[in-house]
Amino acid sequence: MRPPSRLVRLRAALTGRGLDALVVGSSAGMRYLTGFTGSHGLLIVRGDAAELLTDARYAVQAGQEMQEGARCVIVAGSLPEAAGNLRLLRGCARSGFEDEEISLRDHRALKKAFPRIRFRGIGGLLQGLSAVKDSGEIGAIAEAAGISDRVFADILPLVRPGVTELDLAAEIAYRHRKYGAEGDAFEPIVAAGERSAMPHAKASRARIRMGDLVVLDFGCTVRGYHSDLTRTVAVGRVPARLKRIHRIVRDAQEEALGVVREGAAAADVDAAARRVIRREGFGRYFPHSLGHGLGLQVHERPRLAPLSPDVLTDGNVITVEPGIYLPGTGGVRIEDDVVVRGGTCEVLTISPKELILL
Ligand code: ZN
Ligand code: ZN
Repeated sequence: MRPPSRLVRLRAALTGRGLDALVVGSSAGMRYLTGFTGSHGLLIVRGDAAELLTDARYAVQAGQEMQEGARCVIVAGSLPEAAGNLRLLRGCARSGFEDEEISLRDHRALKKAFPRIRFRGIGGLLQGLSAVKDSGEIGAIAEAAGISDRVFADILPLVRPGVTELDLAAEIAYRHRKYGAEGDAFEPIVAAGERSAMPHAKASRARIRMGDLVVLDFGCTVRGYHSDLTRTVAVGRVPARLKRIHRIVRDAQEEALGVVREGAAAADVDAAARRVIRREGFGRYFPHSLGHGLGLQVHERPRLAPLSPDVLTDGNVITVEPGIYLPGTGGVRIEDDVVVRGGTCEVLTISPKELILL
């Protein structure tokens, strides 16, 4: 019964903004509101009706995926035009549209199909609704996080001198699927030695050497929901300076986790980690935000960043992932998936956080 309650929440939010309908064209929005995972569709929510237009390629899939409360209509040709011909916004004066997602071309097509409707952008309305997860959604993320924990434990013995980063990325991707995930949340990041100082390094043909730090950042999807895990391990003996930054990143994460609770400002959680890293003199080597919401998308609201306006609330699932990156030397990041539930912080990720020496 999840989608009907989402549609109910959506309708209340639309009414609050003086809107009597909403046109949704983004895959993420359609999936969130109806369960449909196809890449071509247009959803019109109005009054009691939620109608998803798509083409014949998706007839069977939509039939299987569409959740209660929404109806699928198979059409040919332009979706906005078909919506106009079917008068799917009849009786409406003002409709919202996804101004942060829609292309200019689709916006024009929509205005042409519904010349009498006044369209207003909804900004981050859907992102705000989907940031608060129900127990089914949290369960899916917890399952995905559990699979990634299991994969981490599995691949530790494979992290050895001579193995390439791509080798390890392949082992991670294979195991995610073996353990029941639908796929990777994103291409696994495996970054060794100097390359570990690049926060978003793609796995390469570089081989792991003795004395390297290796950053492993990966996640998988379960029922569309993502996990996202980072650990940094050491191969052989690593310099004291790298051990030190690992300890600082761990302390910073611990500090931030202590601030996560219902009502906390996301910016304050970021600040808690940043303060620890700054105090140790590495402030300028932590160039990214502390974390992000996790759900049907890998990066969603709330954002844990210095200027984030978001406030944490029960049902939020977020990552907490401080890092220190020393160019030319190496980097460390530690990332856990966390739920705000019952007012407090519940960490889903259970992989060990001490520096593992392989
Ligand atoms: Zn990650
Ligand atoms: Zn992340």
